[in-house]
Amino acid sequence: MIVCKSAAELEAMRAANQIVATVRDEVAERIRPGVTTGELDKYAEARIRELGGEPAFKGYRGFPATLCISLNEEVVHGIPSTKRRLAAGDIVGIDLGVRLGGFYGDSALTVPVPPVDEDVTRLLEATREALDLAIGQCWPGRRVGDISHAVQQHVEQAGFSVVREFVGHGIGVALHEDPQIPNFGDPGVGARLRPGMVLAIEPMVNLGDAGVEVLEDGWTAVTVDRKPSAHFEHSVAITEEGPWVLSASNGAAARGPRYAASG
Ligand code: MG
Ligand code: MG
Repeated sequence: MIVCKSAAELEAMRAANQIVATVRDEVAERIRPGVTTGELDKYAEARIRELGGEPAFKGYRGFPATLCISLNEEVVHGIPSTKRRLAAGDIVGIDLGVRLGGFYGDSALTVPVPPVDEDVTRLLEATREALDLAIGQCWPGRRVGDISHAVQQHVEQAGFSVVREFVGHGIGVALHEDPQIPNFGDPGVGARLRPGMVLAIEPMVNLGDAGVEVLEDGWTAVTVDRKPSAHFEHSVAITEEGPWVLSASNGAAARGPRYAASG
């Protein structure tokens, strides 16, 4: 069942997502050679609590940390560690969830530690662009398949591949609600988008083949070919005025005009 949120509920979700955005961006600024992923996690947890929220991932199905930090060939769900030190050439996926006032926010980005290879830079650009194109589909009357197709088409045109095993999702009073939002699919199919739906859209894109596997820790998903993978995510509300990116960086989480209707 897909839950549509009221105007007041969307404001509450914006507040949760603005903590996500603030902490996500502050963590991104702290990414540099020599920093451990455990230090970034500790910082994030303290900041979320200082801002009045609760880490959403910590304890979720037993996940041990506030952030998922996924380096290089890690796709998603990497576990931070005080033994894992960032180095030049790494790409660092940061995924962050917050609960505030009974609602969840969820966003991710992937940050390079320069210098990185040119094809890796293109991978990051293509993944971010795919998310923007997907957000451009977030208008009432469009369908989930339109979002999926926008991601897949852009990624594959750029010469990369989309991960099949993990998907985006509805979000609200639960971290994961209906509908699932695959990063591949056909336009014009799937649930119809309606005002009040909130979707966490999250392209996961591999430089090489699409295949992924989960490591023995039971969490960390990596590419089978061990080539790099990128991940970007926003929580987006469907409104009559168009997409409202609740986890946008600008603090205002401005409505509609930032993203025009496309396609
Ligand atoms: Mg996430
Ligand atoms: Mg998510």
